[in-house]
Amino acid sequence: MSNATPTPVTHFIRNLIADDLAQGRTQGRLATRFPPEPNGYLHIGHAKSICLNFGMAQEFGGVCHLRFDDTNPTKEDTEYVESILETVRWLGFDWGQHLYYASDYFEHCYRYAEGLIQAGKAYVDALSAEEIRAWRGTLTEPGKNSPWRDRPWEESLDLFRRMRSGEFADGQYVLRAKIDMSSPNLNLRDPAIYRIRHATHWRTGNTWCIYPMYDYAHALSDAQERITHSICTLEFEDHRPLYDWVVQNTPVPWQPHQYEFARLNLTYTLMSKRKLLELVQEGHVTGWDDPRMPTLVGLRRRGYSPQAIRLFCERIGVSKADSLIDVSVLEDCLRHDLNERAPRRIAVLDPVRLIIHNYPQGNSEACAVPNHPQKPEWGTRELSFSRELWIDREDFMSAPAKGFFRLAPGAQVRLRYAYVIECTGFEQDPQTGAVTLIHAQYFPQTRSGTPGSDAHKVKGNIHWLSVHQAHPATVRLYDRLFKDPNPGGAEDWRTLLNPDSIGVLPHAQVETALLAAAHGETFQFERQGYFTVDRRDSLPGTPVFNRAVTLRDSWGKRVGA
Ligand code: ATP
Ligand code: MG
Repeated sequence: MSNATPTPVTHFIRNLIADDLAQGRTQGRLATRFPPEPNGYLHIGHAKSICLNFGMAQEFGGVCHLRFDDTNPTKEDTEYVESILETVRWLGFDWGQHLYYASDYFEHCYRYAEGLIQAGKAYVDALSAEEIRAWRGTLTEPGKNSPWRDRPWEESLDLFRRMRSGEFADGQYVLRAKIDMSSPNLNLRDPAIYRIRHATHWRTGNTWCIYPMYDYAHALSDAQERITHSICTLEFEDHRPLYDWVVQNTPVPWQPHQYEFARLNLTYTLMSKRKLLELVQEGHVTGWDDPRMPTLVGLRRRGYSPQAIRLFCERIGVSKADSLIDVSVLEDCLRHDLNERAPRRIAVLDPVRLIIHNYPQGNSEACAVPNHPQKPEWGTRELSFSRELWIDREDFMSAPAKGFFRLAPGAQVRLRYAYVIECTGFEQDPQTGAVTLIHAQYFPQTRSGTPGSDAHKVKGNIHWLSVHQAHPATVRLYDRLFKDPNPGGAEDWRTLLNPDSIGVLPHAQVETALLAAAHGETFQFERQGYFTVDRRDSLPGTPVFNRAVTLRDSWGKRVGA
């Protein structure tokens, strides 16, 4: 685990913005935008784009708009809109009054389209979608002009107006930009910019039955908002000439520029919204916010903090080269953040009872336990030490392996913040062989914090809870959802699901202080990892904890439970 403070890595987007501002190229302004389609929940890949767009605006004193690209009337839902708004806020970013919808610009898009028609730069085509595809040509062959390409603009304008008024069926006509059917860039071979779609839009209702295509609407939305740097992912690089064509051939108030960066890919993680939807719909996970999902609501429920995600986005940097980031980088950012911020608590995840025979029956004594080992200002709390304790099953071996320094018959360990004990015997279930009870004696002179207590040297140091002061809890040990580093590259990701991605420990015992924990609060369970109170299933008195991350990168060594 690395605790080094990250130094912000500079990157080409930061450099080009700094240069543009220094040279006064954008009137000294910086305006970026994050433009999600409201057709799914945001995932960790979107976080990269959010941190970049909002981050640059913050750094350079600019603004970042949040704009819903809601040009597809049939795939969108207000459930997604609500979640996106909440998630961007949760990540720590603020769009101020700059919340927009591409659908706000439908009228602009329409007027500019009429202008293009009148200037002879767009035409209404009667070819079907299949014909348009067939006539488009290939990378090696030029396309063919549509027979309708040179119809008089008056005729196109008339048809376009009638398209708007609802006279025609879906697909009967389409408005195409008149660019170049032999361009080596297929996106410039007279792309469709308007299509007929008799569908109710979640914001504009039935006002429209024609909708602008993404490339066209997106460029015009940026222009309308006077965006200076339209930052998107590399798959749009080939669309940039069309983006430029749109803003150069319409009387927009501003001509923005598009810049592309490599999208985030993470090992052991699916990132496509379509596949994430399949995971949810087919029941491989319990929902969009399942703690194993790479969605931001899932990561949040798992125990990820906005700080950890922002740190991750800073650490991975921004470049133009496609790469696959190891998910351990993300996990490490969470450890880095939680190591600082998470209070320490004690939980015995798989308890076995231990009796200290020479400790007086009915006696107990308070042991002071620090809330954070490096932060004395966080204070201490008291744990009651007594004759009957819970310890974790994995801290005991009846026949200790070489190098095992914890509890075993005849061996001595320190019970953290309390005494050194020695194991004097144990009992097993005759059927299963499982250890059911451990017998021990303690050494009264060894109490932690008293003079000379560490003269009694032992190698092992284990955690414990008094039976009379422990409370049952459910603990879920989440792990990676896929057992293959590149599930997105597989023919069928379903075959790569990790069957041990969730392990439930139904008998865990936790200290009293954890009963009052609020939904979403995260703690380090000493020696175990970081755990978050589940915001859906945890109830007062019967807490449910999700393991956010282990203390160290132990993937492969301790998969699942
Ligand atoms: P998906 O491929 O998951 O369906 P998308 O690109 O269709 O995602 P949008 O809602 O259009 O999803 O994305 C909004 C913004 O987030 C876009 O600017 C897009 O480039 C960016 N984005 C999406 N996925 C990633 C990613 N993996 N890494 C970086 N940025 C991303
Ligand atoms: Mg998209």
